[in-house]
Amino acid sequence: MTRSIAGELQQLREQGLHRSLRTVAGSQGSRVVVEGREVMLLCSNNYLGLADHPALKRAAVEAVERYGTGSGASRLVSGTMELHAALEERLARFKGTEAALVFNSGYAANSGIIPALAGRGDVVFSDRLNHASIVDGCLLSRARFVRYPHNDMNALERLLAEHRGAGRMLIVTDGVFSMDGDLAPLPALAALKRQYGALLMVDDAHGTGVLGESGRGTAEQFGVTADIDLQMGTLGKALGGFGAYVAASAEVVELLVNRARSFIFSTSLPPAVLAAARAALDLVDSPEGDALRRRLARSAALFRDALQGAGFDTMGSETQIVPALVGEAEPVMAFTRRLLEEGYYVQGIRPPTVPAGTCRLRCTLMATHDESDLERAVAAMTRIGKELGIV
Ligand code: PMP
Repeated sequence: MTRSIAGELQQLREQGLHRSLRTVAGSQGSRVVVEGREVMLLCSNNYLGLADHPALKRAAVEAVERYGTGSGASRLVSGTMELHAALEERLARFKGTEAALVFNSGYAANSGIIPALAGRGDVVFSDRLNHASIVDGCLLSRARFVRYPHNDMNALERLLAEHRGAGRMLIVTDGVFSMDGDLAPLPALAALKRQYGALLMVDDAHGTGVLGESGRGTAEQFGVTADIDLQMGTLGKALGGFGAYVAASAEVVELLVNRARSFIFSTSLPPAVLAAARAALDLVDSPEGDALRRRLARSAALFRDALQGAGFDTMGSETQIVPALVGEAEPVMAFTRRLLEEGYYVQGIRPPTVPAGTCRLRCTLMATHDESDLERAVAAMTRIGKELGIV
């Protein structure tokens, strides 16, 4: 019998795994309008609040006036504008690497970079909790795809030893795990990559602009920047815009320009986005950026401690991503609905984004949150958590 689309949708509903879109009115500030009512936004990745910062908006508008709205072509045709070159030079300086290359999104970066570096006869070692775009890049690569248990360095070492002598070996990990908010043990990963002659790629989508003394990310936080062969990050989260980048040696970037299909076969980022990203990096590097990072770290610690104090399991979070474990799909979505009624927008996260039985509220902090609002949010979560029998 033909598998019907209506039947498939019905099955998703029955499993509590059906998704639908919710429109947010206004910019990604700490308060937004959802379903006609003003609520506190606690699930945006606009960590530093730069998505509607005047300096970024001004840079974007000026770029549109000067360069127009579109880039006209892919990078290898006529789509490399002065603004691409300027942003890549700025990113390389920011990250302390020889070169950098921008991609149209983090998804495009990961699904393009991994197959460019690894193919048949090669092996990719990937943390089991890595982002879906990494998983898809690994699957597209046709390399041997070896997943190791989350942050388990003993298991990774055994797997590296088992595959020693295979073609190219690539270890890839999130820097900050996107649904758990914990960190990859970069010093141990760097030691293993040196010992086994592997390449190490870190996806710092959630560390860029936030972690490390000057916001350069997870590698700066651990002091291991020189050991990371590819530092990938996104421009759409703390940097308040859109797109992604990889910072690496000139040789690696040259290979990606020649091999990464999501780079080669796609129209390049438009002027407004490029100019806003450069303004965001200038801001991250300024005293204002330092102050925003400090404020974010303080809010995250306060929020996490308060949730733990109320009896929630925050799943090892060490960053501005603070999950509260719920368990099954139905209660997590009931929790989200009840929070919206009370004036808080927190998204429930279900499979396949997270493993079955670990559905959670994924709370994300922003430097623009008010501390007393955060305390009220924890009080509401605690009240509803008790109602639903979760705490
Ligand atoms: N990597 C990680 C770890 C992510 O969390 C995300 C986005 N959620 C991406 C990559 C994809 O980035 P983008 O949204 O720019 O496609």
